[in-house]
Amino acid sequence: MAVIVQKYGGSSVADVEKLGRVADKIVAAKRAGHDVVVTVSAMGKSTDNLLALARQAAGEGAAAAAPRREIDMLVSTGERVSMSLLAIAIAARGCEAISFTGSQSGIITNDRHFDARIIEVRPHRIEDELSRGRVVIVAGYQGMSYKREITTLGRGGTDTTAVALAAALSADRCEIYSDVDGVYSADPRVVPDARHLPELDPSVLQEMAERGAKVLNAQAVEWARKARITIHARSTFDPWERGAGPRETQVRAQTANPAHAARAVVAEQNLVVGKVSSLSAFEELARVARDEEIPLKDASVREDGGAFVVPLLNVPDWSRARRALERVGGAALELVEGLAAVGVVGDGLSTTGRPLVAFTEALRAAGAKVRGLEAGPLSLVARIEPSALADAQRALHASFVVDGGA
Ligand code: ASP
Ligand code: MG
Repeated sequence: MAVIVQKYGGSSVADVEKLGRVADKIVAAKRAGHDVVVTVSAMGKSTDNLLALARQAAGEGAAAAAPRREIDMLVSTGERVSMSLLAIAIAARGCEAISFTGSQSGIITNDRHFDARIIEVRPHRIEDELSRGRVVIVAGYQGMSYKREITTLGRGGTDTTAVALAAALSADRCEIYSDVDGVYSADPRVVPDARHLPELDPSVLQEMAERGAKVLNAQAVEWARKARITIHARSTFDPWERGAGPRETQVRAQTANPAHAARAVVAEQNLVVGKVSSLSAFEELARVARDEEIPLKDASVREDGGAFVVPLLNVPDWSRARRALERVGGAALELVEGLAAVGVVGDGLSTTGRPLVAFTEALRAAGAKVRGLEAGPLSLVARIEPSALADAQRALHASFVVDGGA
């Protein structure tokens, strides 16, 4: 029998009525003759609400920060609620189902809290239950470290659970259901003429996700790329196109297509830029980042200094992290908070000066002052003030996606 892994995001199970409609879809897949494994996110905004409670419990004050281990214990409950309710709703429809936490599912991670990485999946219990004819529901976004601690996989981590399960179970399909019918060439809420992308290469999508696109989690896309799994990203409730099946984005390896140089515009907020005055100071700071589990990216430092970026999405305790960096960096470090980044992602973008000129000209025309620039083979990215972010996205989309980059 063919194994299907389905993922349902938080907005698809935001209330019990929606959760029931999801249960109907799962039962239909089961009755169509598939072995069905489902991973589910916490209901609606419950992860955000739990994080707000953790902040309240930790109190105000400069030293306040909830321990990351306890944050993981707390937020992992969100997915336990949705997984058990979903199993109950499926059983109520006359279909046998069983729910498992991440640790029961054999999802083993490293020992980082709040943005752990999956290192291995041992899905024996899932396979046993499938062979008994049951639908298996797995709590998304969580696992157990090799030290037997409960960990979570970073915001949006249920996608990662889905892809890792699909790989471990050699699934025939991996379907990711959310409130959008796939990936667009920009955020449609900001760029009204954003285009639906019916297919996308995993390396391009991984770069989009790492540069702030929210549709699919970056670690999930990385797994899919390495395990050669095709992801079908679809909308949970939107009606299917008549006769043609659901509108979706298929994420799978593409042969290079020069016409596709720029695929999408991405944007990211909540960035901190660290400026360092020497390479040795940066080495010390990298050590702190390792020990305190602070993410670093886009570091470019020479003997006489340089810069790096800390994205705050998966840093639940920035005030503590900032103190740790400042203690070691001292006068050699300057931290600039509250920056945004905007970029163009595609294939072969940095091989000539031409896209770079088009990029900076579009940003200038949109009134965005460029504070820093990163050019790589898969993306051109500029750090700017958040106030200019929406105009910058629209300008880059018009220039690169609509007009093809010059
Ligand atoms: N509930 C978690 C979050 O909000 C995981 C997920 O939605 O995938 O980030
Ligand atoms: Mg969520």
